Amino acid sequence: MAPTEDAAAATPPPPPHFVIVPFVAQGHTIPMVDLARLLGSRGARVSLVTTPVNAARLRGVAGHATRAKLALDIVELPFPTDVAGLPPGIEHVDQVTNHNHCVLLFAALRRLAEPLEAYLRSLPPPRRPSCLVSDWCNGWTAAVSARLGIPRLFFQGPPCFYSLCDINAVDHGLHEQTAAARDDTEKFVVPGMPVRVEFLACYEAVLGKPVWALGPFCLANRGDAEATASRGNAPDVARQSAVTAWLDAMDTDDSVVFVSFGSLVRKLPNQLFEVGHGLEDSGVPFVWVVKESEAAAPEVAEWLAALEVRVAGRGLVVRGWAPQLAVLSHCAVGGFVTHCGWNSLLEAIAHGVPVATWPHFADQFLNERLVVDVLGVGVPVGVAEAAVMMLGDESAPVVAREDVARAVAALMGDGEEAGERRRKAKEYGEKAHRAMEKGGSSYESLTQLIESFRQSGGEKKTEDGTVHAWSPLKEQKK
Ligand code: UDP
Repeated sequence: MAPTEDAAAATPPPPPHFVIVPFVAQGHTIPMVDLARLLGSRGARVSLVTTPVNAARLRGVAGHATRAKLALDIVELPFPTDVAGLPPGIEHVDQVTNHNHCVLLFAALRRLAEPLEAYLRSLPPPRRPSCLVSDWCNGWTAAVSARLGIPRLFFQGPPCFYSLCDINAVDHGLHEQTAAARDDTEKFVVPGMPVRVEFLACYEAVLGKPVWALGPFCLANRGDAEATASRGNAPDVARQSAVTAWLDAMDTDDSVVFVSFGSLVRKLPNQLFEVGHGLEDSGVPFVWVVKESEAAAPEVAEWLAALEVRVAGRGLVVRGWAPQLAVLSHCAVGGFVTHCGWNSLLEAIAHGVPVATWPHFADQFLNERLVVDVLGVGVPVGVAEAAVMMLGDESAPVVAREDVARAVAALMGDGEEAGERRRKAKEYGEKAHRAMEKGGSSYESLTQLIESFRQSGGEKKTEDGTVHAWSPLKEQKK
C-alpha cells in the first residue's frame, strides 16, 4: 500500500549516515572513533571504514558499540596486496620501520579509493551515505565523494591555530623564505595572525568553508570504562592496574610528572638515556612510558632495570602502551612532558594538567607555540630544531639531561610561574568540560552538524544567522 501524503509527512526522515574514513595512525584513529561514538550516541548511523589489520584493532570498539546499542559498523576494505616492496601485513603507520615503507604504505592507501567507491555504491537507499568524513591525510577520498556527489567533510585533528598558520604561511610565500633560510633554527613571523585570538572564526573565513569545532573528544567517554579502554591499542589490564595502584599510593595531589611521546616517536638509546637521567636528577616523582621497540635492545633493557632500582618508590617505567587517559585524569598527576601531539595536549589540558613541551615533527612545533605563548600552560624543554625521530632515524640527542631536569623542575615547582600555568590549565580544563556538556559549544556544534546532514546537503548557521551551504564540488581555496 502506498503511503498517503499525511502518513509520508508524519514519517521522520531516516537518521543521517556518516561514513568515516580514519587515517591509519593512533593519533588520528582514536579521535575519529570518539567522534563516531558521539554521532552514534546522538542517533546517527555511522560506518567506520578501514582495512583488515586495523579492523582487528577495532574489535573492542565494535563490541562496545553493540553493547551500547549504537548504529555503528566497522567496514573492512581489502588492502592492496600488490604494492611492490611493502611487506605483507603492514597496514598501520606504527608498523613502519623505514621511510621507504612509509611512502609505499601511503601509495597502498590511495588505492583504497576503488573499493571505497564500490562499498558506497552498494548501499541501499535507507543507508545511502549523507556525508563522508575523511581524515585530512586521506585526500584520496575527495575524488570518490565528487564522483558520487556525496558531501565530504575533512576531519582535521590539529587545532585551528596550526591550520591558520599553515594557510597564512602559504598565502604569504613563507615556505619560499624558509627554504632560503641560513639554518633550520631561524624563526619567522607568520603574517595574518590575529593578535587577540578568535582562531575559529578567522580559520573559517580564510578557509572559505564552514568549520564545526568539536571536542575535546577525550571527554566523550567519561564514566564508560569499556569505551575508554578500547581507545587505541588493546590495554594490558595488569599493567593498567599496576600504574593506577602506583599513582593511588602517592599521597600528594599534582605531585607526579607523566612522560610520554605519543604512539609514533621512537627514541634512540642515547636520547632515551638523557630522558631517564634528567628525570632521575629532577628529584620529581614520575611515570615514564618507554615503547617496547625502544626497550628491546639488551643495553637499554639493562639500563632501564638499573634506573628502576635507583628510583624505586619515586619513578615508574611503563613498557609498551600506557593507559594515558587514566594517568592524566589521576589526581596525583600534576604535569606532562609531551611531544605535543594534539591528542596528548588536549588530553592534558582537558584534565587541567600543564605541560613541558618537546615537539618532534609536523604540527607539534606550532602546537608548542600555542600552549606556551598563547594559552600559557606550557614550559619548553628547549628543542631548537626539528628532530624527526619518528621512525628511529639515526640522530644525535637533541635534548640533554640538564634540559629535561630543568623543564621538569620548572613545570612541577612552587614558583609563581608554575602556579600560574597550573591555574590556567585548570581553568581551560573546566571550559573543556563545559564545551562537551549539553548546551556547551561542542555539544551544540555536533547537533548542528547532525541536523545539517539529516536531510542531506550540509548547512551551517553562523552566529550572525548566515547559512553556509556546503558543496563537495565547491572550489578549494588552494
Ligand atoms: N596513547 C596512549 N598510550 C600510549 C601512547 C599513546 O593511550 O602509550 C594515546 C594518547 O592518549 C593519544 C594518542 O595515543 O590519544 C596519541 O596521539 P597524539 O596526537 O598525542 O600523538 P601521535 O601518536 O599521533 O604522535
